Amino acid sequence: MPNVITLIDTLEKARILNREEFVYLLEHHTDGDAAYLAEKARIISKKHFGNKVYTRGLIEISNYCKNDCYYCGIRRSNKNVIRYRLSNEDILRCCEQGYELGFRTFVMQGGEDSYFTDERMVEIIKEIKSKYPDCALTLSLGEKSYETYLKYYNAGADRYLLRHETANEEHYKKLHPKELSLLVRKQCLMDLKAIGFQTGCGFMVGSPYQTMDHIAEDLLFIKELSPAMVGIGPFLPHHETPFADQEKGSYELTLFLLSIIRLMIPNVLLPATTALGTIHPMGRENGILSGANVVMPNLSPVAVRKNYELYDNKICTGDEAAECRMCLQGRMQKIGYELVAERGDFIPM
Ligand code: SAH
Repeated sequence: MPNVITLIDTLEKARILNREEFVYLLEHHTDGDAAYLAEKARIISKKHFGNKVYTRGLIEISNYCKNDCYYCGIRRSNKNVIRYRLSNEDILRCCEQGYELGFRTFVMQGGEDSYFTDERMVEIIKEIKSKYPDCALTLSLGEKSYETYLKYYNAGADRYLLRHETANEEHYKKLHPKELSLLVRKQCLMDLKAIGFQTGCGFMVGSPYQTMDHIAEDLLFIKELSPAMVGIGPFLPHHETPFADQEKGSYELTLFLLSIIRLMIPNVLLPATTALGTIHPMGRENGILSGANVVMPNLSPVAVRKNYELYDNKICTGDEAAECRMCLQGRMQKIGYELVAERGDFIPM
């Protein structure tokens, strides 16, 4: 096996490594190697995005969920969550506030809540897109049929985030109850792409039972799917889940993976996630400095924020949207970057 620096140089040129090489890179890199890789990733992201950081206003529309994912704090079996769903008026108020703060992408995320029928979703999508025609709309609402995704798209939604969570079948089964399957997840991602969405996949770093081999499979899957967006963040335990006592994911490995993904897909939209900001006080800054180019501050009404708790100690659950925006703006400026009021679409190379 060549040394780590050589592997990083190969990754930069070929934009891919094979599975054994990825595992070697993941297992044998030093802090110095990670800094070398991060610098390459930063240069690539500067080339595509300059010092601009795109912002997405996250609106957590519902914490009702029919699924029971072992890692997730809003899983159906958690009886200690105060469940809520936002009305159309609530959602539109979030958008209005967000627009004034300079957001030009809104993300509606939620549990798989059957209250939000196709008709209801189509109505709210159309309403947002007609009030804010210059904004992009992203959905992150889980697994739906091709027909449903198509309705969302035809109503005007632009992007869809659906993390694949893990590309390994066995590992997938350890994170999810038997009703859920990796095959269906992958089909959803294929459908979303085929329909024309800017599509995002992704996974948790350090989820229970994850091995470096699994991560290598995730990277190969991401390359194959060739998504417009990739969302990764550290796994963080939630006290009311079966994984309450599991170790959290590694901060350093998350940063390292952000850099790898930037080298693999130079123009990908890559957020420094809230989970990254939760695991380390400088997480989002260091995410940007490792090759990320997107942040997703919360626009949800403060009254419901604490109830959308996917993992313990989630940051910014007490802040107003404006505070979040200003806080992030300051953080980005300190490291030489600027939050911009642009849609920030994926631009094919
Ligand atoms: N129901 C939607 C939205 C899920 S929440 C869907 O299925 O896509 C968005 C992401 O949060 C999930 O895809 C998962 O990767 C992440 N997440 C959930 N629980 C988490 C935890 N305990 N730690 C870190 N990330 C978590």
